[in-house]
Amino acid sequence: MSNDRTREISVVVVGGSYAGAAAAKQLAGLSKKYPGLKVTLVDKRTHYFHAVGFPKALVDASYAEKAFLPFENFFAESSGHEFVNEGLAAVVDEHHIELGDGRRVYYDYLVLATGGQAPGPIGVAGRTKDEGVAEIRALREGLEGASSVLVVGGGPVGVEVAGFVAAAYPAKDVTLVHSRDRLLPEQFRIGISNGAVEKLSSLGVKVVLSEKVEIPADFAFASNVGPRVLRGVHSGKEYASDVQILAVGFRVDAEYLAPLEAAVGAPLRTEGAGAIRVRPTLQIDADALPHIFVPGDANSLPGSTKFGFKAEMQGGTAAANIRRLIESGFDAAFKARPDAPAPAVGAWTDYVDLILVPIGPSLGVAQALKVALGGSALGNLLVSQLKAKDFMLGLRRGYYPRPKKAKRD
Ligand SMILES: Cc1cc2nc3c(=O)[nH]c(=O)nc-3n(C[C@H](O)[C@H](O)[C@H](O)COP(=O)(O)OP(=O)(O)OC[C@H]3O[C@@H](n4cnc5c(N)ncnc54)[C@H](O)[C@@H]3O)c2cc1C
Repeated sequence: MSNDRTREISVVVVGGSYAGAAAAKQLAGLSKKYPGLKVTLVDKRTHYFHAVGFPKALVDASYAEKAFLPFENFFAESSGHEFVNEGLAAVVDEHHIELGDGRRVYYDYLVLATGGQAPGPIGVAGRTKDEGVAEIRALREGLEGASSVLVVGGGPVGVEVAGFVAAAYPAKDVTLVHSRDRLLPEQFRIGISNGAVEKLSSLGVKVVLSEKVEIPADFAFASNVGPRVLRGVHSGKEYASDVQILAVGFRVDAEYLAPLEAAVGAPLRTEGAGAIRVRPTLQIDADALPHIFVPGDANSLPGSTKFGFKAEMQGGTAAANIRRLIESGFDAAFKARPDAPAPAVGAWTDYVDLILVPIGPSLGVAQALKVALGGSALGNLLVSQLKAKDFMLGLRRGYYPRPKKAKRD
């Protein structure tokens, strides 16, 4: 295989959040060795939104403003790499994507890091910072005028949201309904689930387990604010509230793959969930497409991997595998002979066992290295110090530098 270091190489990364930002930054670093390498980062938004900090953004207007970081300066101006603020409309074939404005972009390597969608307003849908801030503000204003709040879903997001709402508005009646018989993901120890119930209760949250409520079909963003009665599917019990916050219903929307599926004659997404099928190397699951990688929430790895820090690690794995392919001259060989065999690349391994769940600014539960800190004061200390203050927003700032001329974004 040819390993001419001056050859033109186009790497396109779609999605600039945890997975995509890590991949794009690492790949851009390769251009010192490969001056012809160009990374194009495509994102439909003007700003990265720090979803991890949503529970704090909901109750703290100044934090909500800070949680949007601009893509504009993702690459240094002189780097030769480019950020394109446009949606991915289609992966047309094994070398082209089409953007929302109709533009076609050629790629030698493609990283699809488009994540998943939580229901609004938890999954902020706004394309610009102003739109995103307005979505969160609308919910906050709804909360301020409400006397009762219903949070549906007792995973980490639901627990954190219920805790922050209860801590910020102690006079409001907050209920958390969860379909399972314990809170938080099942792969973690029962001690943190019990600790979460205890700490939420101490803030006045009513926790209802083993209860699935019916979600009305018209449950759009706007209808989250306003009086509603949701009914328990099995119990028939009615839950009346002034504001409802859904922390369930995560899905992947990768309809842009339909043309590529037609071109290769095989489905590339899982049935139902719509996640993009991947191999342990994070390559898309098709022999003919060894140069397409899918790190992060968009892929078909289990639910236990759907965390920001794991998406970031996967972005690193995708970049490292692309580096291996580039170094072996794979793209040049593939152009000359599309059936050229791809060299071996490495698998991503999920070895990190960590969860930090703040329940309001000063309480929380945690698990690291199989040690669960549920009911303990140490859990409160660890979570409030490591996470609750800024929800690790500081760790993201390095990816998205502010524009130089002190321009407000
Ligand atoms: C409210 C909330 C709280 C969370 N809290 C935590 C936490 O405390 N700790 C933790 O580890 N994880 C947390 N998570 C999970 C974490 O946010 C995700 O696992 C992580 O964001 C996944 O990263 P990603 O890069 O795969 O995708 P995403 O973060 O979903 O990013 C996808 C990117 O792709 C872009 N995009 C999507 N489609 C297109 C398209 N067609 N064209 C162009 N661009 C597109 C989007 O604009 C976005 O920038 C939380 C999630 C939510 C919703």
